[in-house]
Amino acid sequence: KPAPNDLRAFWMPYTANRQFKSAPRMLVASKDMHYTAADGRQILDGTAGLWCCNAGHCRPRITEAVQNQVGELDYAPAFQMGHPLAFELANRIVDIAPDGMDHVFYTNSGSEAVDTALKIALAYHRARGDAARTRLIGRERGYHGVGFGGISVGGIVNNRRHFGTLLAGVDHMPHTHLPENVFTKGQPEHGANLADELERIVALHGAETIAAVIVEPMAGSTGVLMPPKGYLEKLRAITKKHGILLIFDEVITGFGRLGSPFAAQHFGVVPDMITCAKGLTNGVIPMGAVLATAEIYDAFMQGPEHIIELFHGYTYSGNPISCAAAIATLDTYAEEGLLTRAASLETYWQEAIHGLRDHPNVIDIRNMGLIGAVELAPIEGQPGKRAFDIFVRAFEAGILIRVTGDIIAMSPPLIISEAQIDHLIGTLGEVLKTAA
Ligand code: PMP
Repeated sequence: KPAPNDLRAFWMPYTANRQFKSAPRMLVASKDMHYTAADGRQILDGTAGLWCCNAGHCRPRITEAVQNQVGELDYAPAFQMGHPLAFELANRIVDIAPDGMDHVFYTNSGSEAVDTALKIALAYHRARGDAARTRLIGRERGYHGVGFGGISVGGIVNNRRHFGTLLAGVDHMPHTHLPENVFTKGQPEHGANLADELERIVALHGAETIAAVIVEPMAGSTGVLMPPKGYLEKLRAITKKHGILLIFDEVITGFGRLGSPFAAQHFGVVPDMITCAKGLTNGVIPMGAVLATAEIYDAFMQGPEHIIELFHGYTYSGNPISCAAAIATLDTYAEEGLLTRAASLETYWQEAIHGLRDHPNVIDIRNMGLIGAVELAPIEGQPGKRAFDIFVRAFEAGILIRVTGDIIAMSPPLIISEAQIDHLIGTLGEVLKTAA
């Protein structure tokens, strides 16, 4: 038995004790824009936790809602029984969702939301007598969580190659990140024709075999990759033409990251389903959801027999505590105007982050809403080493950033002030200079 303080008991591929050579950096408290480190230092949160604490940390309204709910109705089964908060929350989500997204299915995470959406897509076609539509299409560099569905459609080879055959009948379109898109402010002008790759895949297999296409409207986890102007519109037109469902994975972009409640509204492109999680509960309690159109909902709600035959759902789907946290989160977003705040701060954020352009080893910068990436030239033969070194130094300097490969990503809570943007970017600038 390891000693109680043995730091090997908790492990994940990137657990802090494996990544840091010395003791792992621990976070012990949080408030608004800051974490407190174990040594008492205040760390400015440049990543909203893991792209999830959009309203900042330990917000009293959300904390109290959770505390009250735990003492009031702690759990209610989602199958056959209901509780009012699940219905109230669904309506609140529909209120801010793109027009046509009228139905909500609850999950406990982004990964579950993705697997759920893929299952809904397959069952939808079957319910309409189109059982041959079983193929799924994702994108290279797409990230859709770690469920079997999510890693199958996801485009990160390392995330799937250790796990056998996964889902059959999956294709990956190329991603839209073009090397010539350097130092792009907002959406790149060129690259929409990459959506034509979807036509190529459709022609290869036949539209009648394809169930759904899933993309992140703006890919976060693989390095903050913006869709070129017209690209999402083209994907929508092609999927519509061929009767293929389009799923937007909005686990990161949902709840205000780009200045609208959902990226679908920001880009003016409405898919058939949206997956979300993270910002839904401000990261406080695990919860995800799939939003779907009435057409999809109606395909399943054909009568009691059909519902009973088609089993899908989780013990914790729409549990009262998650619902209470989500309602208080939506209240906070509404009261503080946070779902549109990224739009009003976008120019300030953009100018600040692009101010790092001439810093050592910076080879690209891109931004949109309140998200941005600074890409570094890798050290030869040691991919990721440079950015990880910057990450460690940044933490020592009092800011939390996120690195993926040699890309630094930042997505601060939407409550960030202009002065805090200056501090975040200024500190990163200093670190970039000293680490060079
Ligand atoms: N989809 C996207 C686009 C994500 O960014 C993430 C998480 N980063 C997921 C799915 C998976 O969410 P979770 O970690 O809550 O399972």
